[in-house]
Amino acid sequence: MKTYLRILAYARPLRRYLPQYILFSLLGIIFGLINFTLLKPLFDVLFGQVKEADIAQYRQMPDFGLSIDYFTHLFNHYFLQITETHGKVGSLFFVCLVIVVSVFLSNLFVYLSSITLAEIRAKVIRSLRMDIFGKVSDLHLGFFSDERKGDLMSRITNDVQEVENSIVSSLKVVFKEPATIIIYFIALFTMSFKLTLFTLILLPISGTIISEITKRLKKKARQSQESLGRIVNILDETLSGMRVIKAFNARPYVVDKFDQEVNRYANINVSMAHKNELASPLSQFMGVSVVAGILLYGGTMVLNNNSALDASEFFVYIVIFSQILNPAKAISSAFSTIQRGLASGERIFSVIDTKPAIADKADAKAMTTFNESITFKNVQFKYQDETVLKDINLTIPKGKTVALVGPSGGGKSTLADLVPRFYDPAEGEVLLDGVSLQDYTTASIRSKMGIVTQESILFNDTIFNNIAFGIPDASAENVEQAARIANAHDFIIESPQGYQTEIGDRGSRLSGGQRQRLSIARAVLKNPDILILDEATSALDSESERLVQDALNKLMQNRTSLVIAHRLSTIQHADMIVVLKHGEIVETGSHTELLQLNGLYKKLNTMQTL
Ligand code: ADP
Repeated sequence: MKTYLRILAYARPLRRYLPQYILFSLLGIIFGLINFTLLKPLFDVLFGQVKEADIAQYRQMPDFGLSIDYFTHLFNHYFLQITETHGKVGSLFFVCLVIVVSVFLSNLFVYLSSITLAEIRAKVIRSLRMDIFGKVSDLHLGFFSDERKGDLMSRITNDVQEVENSIVSSLKVVFKEPATIIIYFIALFTMSFKLTLFTLILLPISGTIISEITKRLKKKARQSQESLGRIVNILDETLSGMRVIKAFNARPYVVDKFDQEVNRYANINVSMAHKNELASPLSQFMGVSVVAGILLYGGTMVLNNNSALDASEFFVYIVIFSQILNPAKAISSAFSTIQRGLASGERIFSVIDTKPAIADKADAKAMTTFNESITFKNVQFKYQDETVLKDINLTIPKGKTVALVGPSGGGKSTLADLVPRFYDPAEGEVLLDGVSLQDYTTASIRSKMGIVTQESILFNDTIFNNIAFGIPDASAENVEQAARIANAHDFIIESPQGYQTEIGDRGSRLSGGQRQRLSIARAVLKNPDILILDEATSALDSESERLVQDALNKLMQNRTSLVIAHRLSTIQHADMIVVLKHGEIVETGSHTELLQLNGLYKKLNTMQTL
């Protein structure tokens, strides 16, 4: 119930739509009802059943009042006049005309209420989708381990879709269908109190049976959405890893994995459908059974002249009652849709409710200038339970280049990730100019930093926009200048549309070295005080490595840099080299000092020169 109200709450800025929707729906229902009540005078004319007493009564104009009686009386008054002046055929014409007008109006209002609902739905879904996307993009980096990606994508697409479907049916069920049932029942009660009482006793029995079925649906719905999430996941991995899959002849493996998940999904859905699809035929069957019961009970009453209804009224009564079956059916089948929507809603809200682990303090201040140093003070870090960094103490003075080297898995990337505050240390602190990172706003510290990683992250956009990423007002001159410094200008102007060339999904139309030089151009344009280079050249061949390394050297001039390097030759001239092993700093010094030390660095160096 809480989830349901929360989804509806997304309609809150749309209050103005609601009265409009309610008005149109009510008018649609009322004109629909009028159509059926007009059947009575129609039959009366056709079968010549008008009573003398009624005629005398209808000759007078009724006193005005907002009641069904007033309107029936009014209709009958004019109807009588027309019968008397134009004869039976004339009155038949009159009734048919009124029916046509009223059918037109009822359908017009049904249409208007439906499009109002469509607008509400579109806006609710838009807000919900923006909310979850905004939330996801604000979450800390640690949230996005790979296995979650497909699941997250599924939540943002499929689950929101599911909620969309459930909201439509639910708004109808919450308002329109019950209103239809109530208004129709009022009409039935005014026609025959006793008969309607009888039908009311029969209805709850069928209602109970249907609600029993739908109760079991929600669990299945959740399983189904989770399975869909895993399918998207496999899809994502397969599409991005196609090269490896082909190289390792691993197609049977992924196909089999996909097959298993798709099978599971199919099974869950079949089992869900068994219950889901039962609701509608079952309610139809029970509805018609109720009608049969009324026919039997009411028909006997009419036949014995034991009722307020005459034959034509009884007929109209049955017709109106049968109209209640449709909204009743809609309500019962909507229950199952709502269960599915709620399961999805909960999956969406669990993401929206995730608190970002990295958030600004209330009194965080903006970092304006970087003047002295980056300092690690007794820093300890763990991802889950395993300690990855132990008691790190390190100072990177402004303007210096510090290189991190060591065996892989030693914690180099993790240490670098602490500087832009992608993670917070478990113990100790990272300081900028002596102030803890946590006392600054994250946006202000990140605006001082440029990051180039091994895997250049580019977006499906033009070269220009990829360089100007995050700098909306970048000028063409500045972008070009950055590209020149990054050794990228030449290949860019050789591309079909120059700076406006689209580079494809994740830059797939570029070579590795070109992608990397675009990443560097991006960092040059940002002109950061602090640079973090994480194995920026290790994925490249030596020709592009030379170009990239040259670009990096230009980028690093007059900046404070933290460089993670696999190839030690690239960092020989660093001001300080830090050797990290198993999360601990084991050696520090310049290249020559470390070689003299004859320790791990020397060993790594010898291995590489061999
Ligand atoms: P390096 O950069 O020196 O190769 P990393 O900092 O990448 O080392 O990794 C250090 C350790 O932390 C490794 O044991 C690695 O398995 C672990 N690790 C890295 N990233 C994560 C993560 N997102 N979740 C859990 N463990 C991680």
